[in-house]
Amino acid sequence: MSSKKPDFPEHFLDNVGKPLKKSVLLNGYSNFKIGGKADYFFEATSILELTKSILLAREHSFPYFIIGAGYNLLFDDDGFRGIIIKNNVKGITKREKEEEIEALAGTPLRGLIQFSIDKGLSGFEFLAGIPGTVGGAVFSNAGAFGNSIGEFLKNAEILNRKGKRVKVKRDYFEFRYRHSVLSEKYDVFLRAVFELHQGDKEEIKAHIEENLEKRRSNHPPEEVACAGSYFKNPVLPDGERVSAANFLDKIGAKDMRVGGAAVYRGHANFIINKEKASAQDVLRLAKELKGRVRERFDIDLEEEVIFLSAGSSTP
Ligand SMILES: Cc1cc2nc3c(=O)[nH]c(=O)nc-3n(C[C@H](O)[C@H](O)[C@H](O)COP(=O)(O)OP(=O)(O)OC[C@H]3O[C@@H](n4cnc5c(N)ncnc54)[C@H](O)[C@@H]3O)c2cc1C
Repeated sequence: MSSKKPDFPEHFLDNVGKPLKKSVLLNGYSNFKIGGKADYFFEATSILELTKSILLAREHSFPYFIIGAGYNLLFDDDGFRGIIIKNNVKGITKREKEEEIEALAGTPLRGLIQFSIDKGLSGFEFLAGIPGTVGGAVFSNAGAFGNSIGEFLKNAEILNRKGKRVKVKRDYFEFRYRHSVLSEKYDVFLRAVFELHQGDKEEIKAHIEENLEKRRSNHPPEEVACAGSYFKNPVLPDGERVSAANFLDKIGAKDMRVGGAAVYRGHANFIINKEKASAQDVLRLAKELKGRVRERFDIDLEEEVIFLSAGSSTP
């Protein structure tokens, strides 16, 4: 237990108006179902709670880390020496302009898709089957089938490093393949306006069902503990982005396992928690996979899954 700042929980209660939870097991907050105890845990249900808790942690130089639904995260076996702030601030509204939707960062992607179907708005069909929140998706510019969420973001509100809530436009995020500026600037993403286009409800639903069917053919079913594709698709020297799974397949990844962590049989780029895996099992397996791909193809795979080590802190 971190004892560096014993008065932090009291300050937290005074400022945020709700108590911190102590010694919380993180394995329930990541779809990998792995992770030891965080010293402190707080679930924010309003933007005010979210911003106050982050500003307080920053003010006290108390290590913190913000999470959405934990579908792209691997927690450490030793948990986290600081406070995990779970963003559960959700809500969707339709804007005056017909094609626009505004969503808070903690809104589940599933809700966002359903809302757009109900309003007959097309664009988010590619998101069907990607689990998590709007915040997590914007952080990594989540995507599939050639589309990514950043393309549809018109403007947003963030809490910047100076502690100010500011409005920013799409360009601010510098969206690229599985990348946004949030991972460099450590702003907190609060809400966004997305611009879609009018569509036919039945066509939107059919397109979604088609996408879900494609996923079912090679992605693990919902109950499998994992965090999606483990590695980003690499770029070849000629600039072409190619599937990481192809290289992983060729090095025999699907037969590989370390402790309780294994590569999913149906897709070589998914590491799964097969049987009480530890974070160390997953990391060792990932290292082995990377090493073999480098050795055989001279390609450096980069992790898409985010590992939060116990002693790290958001700068
Ligand atoms: C079966 C499966 C399939 C998947 N398929 C895809 C896919 O096709 N395409 C794809 O792109 N991803 C895919 N993923 C990965 C995952 O669903 C996405 O990355 C998703 O966007 C994660 O959202 P989350 O809320 O769970 O984020 P988390 O895992 O909780 O967090 C991820 C990162 O986002 C940051 N973050 C979260 N909220 C905020 C915020 N409000 N402000 C600032 N930073 C924030 C966190 O600090 C963390 O660094 C898949 C995962 C699984 C398990």
